[in-house]
Amino acid sequence: APKENPLVVIDAHGLPYQNAKLPVKQRVADLLARMSPAEKAGQMTQAERNALKSQGDIAAYDLGSLLSGGGSVPTPNTAAAWAKMVDAYQLRAQATRFQIPLIYGVDAVHGHNNVVGSTIMPHNIGIGAGRDPKLAERTGAVTANEVRATGIPWDFAPCVCVTRDERWGRSYEAYGEDPALVEAMETVITGMQGSPSGKDLARNDKVLASAKHFVGDGGTEFGSSTTGSYTIDQGVTKVTRQELEAVHLAPFAESVKRGVGTVMPSYSSLDVLGDDAGPVKMHANAEMINGVLKDRMGFEGFVISDWQAIDQIPGDYASDVRTSVNAGLDMIMVPTAYQDFTRTLQAEVTAGRISQARIDDAVARILTQKFRLGLFEKPYADTSNLDKVGSAEHRAVAREAAAKSQVLLKNDGSVLPLKPSQKVYVAGSNADDLGNQAGGWTISWQGASGATTTGTTILKGIEKNASSATFSKDASAPTEGYDAGVVVVGEKPYAEGVGDVGNGHDLELTDADKAAVDTVCAAMKCAVLVASGRPQLVGDRLGDIDALVASWLPGTEGDGVADVLYGKRAFTGQLPVTWPKSESQLPVNVGDATYDPQFPYGWGLTTLRKAPSGGEATLTALAVAAQLAERAGLGRTAAGKEIVDRARLLVQQRTGGKLTAAVSKPFAEADHLLLTGDLTGAVAKLRTAYRAV
Ligand code: BGC
Repeated sequence: APKENPLVVIDAHGLPYQNAKLPVKQRVADLLARMSPAEKAGQMTQAERNALKSQGDIAAYDLGSLLSGGGSVPTPNTAAAWAKMVDAYQLRAQATRFQIPLIYGVDAVHGHNNVVGSTIMPHNIGIGAGRDPKLAERTGAVTANEVRATGIPWDFAPCVCVTRDERWGRSYEAYGEDPALVEAMETVITGMQGSPSGKDLARNDKVLASAKHFVGDGGTEFGSSTTGSYTIDQGVTKVTRQELEAVHLAPFAESVKRGVGTVMPSYSSLDVLGDDAGPVKMHANAEMINGVLKDRMGFEGFVISDWQAIDQIPGDYASDVRTSVNAGLDMIMVPTAYQDFTRTLQAEVTAGRISQARIDDAVARILTQKFRLGLFEKPYADTSNLDKVGSAEHRAVAREAAAKSQVLLKNDGSVLPLKPSQKVYVAGSNADDLGNQAGGWTISWQGASGATTTGTTILKGIEKNASSATFSKDASAPTEGYDAGVVVVGEKPYAEGVGDVGNGHDLELTDADKAAVDTVCAAMKCAVLVASGRPQLVGDRLGDIDALVASWLPGTEGDGVADVLYGKRAFTGQLPVTWPKSESQLPVNVGDATYDPQFPYGWGLTTLRKAPSGGEATLTALAVAAQLAERAGLGRTAAGKEIVDRARLLVQQRTGGKLTAAVSKPFAEADHLLLTGDLTGAVAKLRTAYRAV
């Protein structure tokens, strides 16, 4: 037996499952055949670490997994302390008969975000704005590296949800509203796990990913909450079968292709229009989990429930357990009543209401991933990577991601890019607040304002570039002499729920932010940055704003935002979601029959280069180029994208920011077509948009 870590007390059973040279399948079969009902039930159980009555319960209940929910952190909250904590739990699992290692999981949804000092990436909505699959992959690799360094082999990410209504408080966890965009960003799974075969998972810089939340979490209807309030989170997704397939299921098919190790069902219910079934809780949805995910898509990993989600299934606890396990759930995030769960699960099996075959399948799936992760050989943290957590090298990736996530919505040319020689006046609630610019799921579950971790605020980034910068959060006394103003407004952090600003469910700016914009834009040339998890309504103010930027939630590297403000990098981001004019327009998405937003999906001015000249004639040439490129199989390559980008620039230049429905609709559709590799379709749409101006 391997003895790499002195902490590992391997009994030299010399059993086949302990032999790392044997194929995983054989090891799983050998171990499974030896396990008792209680040991099997334990493997299917995930407890929150704080819920443990004693650490001895890990062995007493043969627990298969522990998690740290958001904010369940060690003291002190350092990377080294995390590694020590997880190792201590793992040591307890070594006291079990077969020394089956735990699989510890965390929500590292934008970097190893529970750990102070880690590298915090832009939230997914910003990654979607970046539209750079290679960069998305690198952010996934950085996250995996930092998570695994602390002994954690499993990350409940990415959310491959498709946001269809921006009132949803988890909109920022989605890459966007277009399934094609979400799919394109799923390179992040490869960054986290490596090869789809799973052969890289045992590396000390890879983790198991979790595609969530299956399926339709981003499609819930506003006002259809099961809790009776107006919240949209955890509600009901009412869709036709066709929409279900094309919009919500498609990203999961991509996850499966990328070999995603786990899938987490959604709290929401699914109501397929035309079916008689009515809304079915996703955790009870056998048709979707067994039928579609496992049978049809061929998902070979394991299904982990969401937090206490089976308790929401109608009926008593025994019914919750049997319904969810029979629907295809393999491991339950209990996360507190683990004794109850293991007992109930075994009773249901004994009573014949859950088959032995179902249990064996679930346990085999879990063990397979544990073997692949190399946990039997190396259950403890390989601390040689601890110094990578929050390293300069990793922060450089986050900085690039932050820069690329910035979407220039309006630019009259009078203020951006800023020049170092200029005297700048900086204001707004999110200009100098690291916690606000990082958003939810940062150090604590809901996130918090203020200096909750280490990094650079947007203001600090500006200060590094400007010869003179004055900051006043509430824009008091912006008296004479400034060359330019930068007002950073937006939301305060939140996770899940509605994500209200103030007490409404709306996308309004706060009164303080409105006042800051009005004051600064009246006094000087101004750029307004909206640092938020979703679009915010700017309405008529747009006329007074010289440059408008969607900054999303850029994470800890405010330097990246300053890079584009100062022209060290070009603005290249594009809207991953439609930017509405008003709340009454919602839901509004690319492909809608009526589509007249403030800024269409895919919008984003670039400072990379000027629009080509030649107008209509150039568009004709681009249409031909698109056809040839597509025929040459260049649909999804940089060369193909380049052709469509040029056509887009022509349209953007011609509109001068005057967007009407006739322009916005085809403009947005072009971007969707580009992502599907349909270059000719994309250029044709842009031509329609061009002519409509
Ligand atoms: C969230 C999941 C998350 C889980 C564990 C739930 O509330 O919906 O996305 O993975 O908590 O923290």
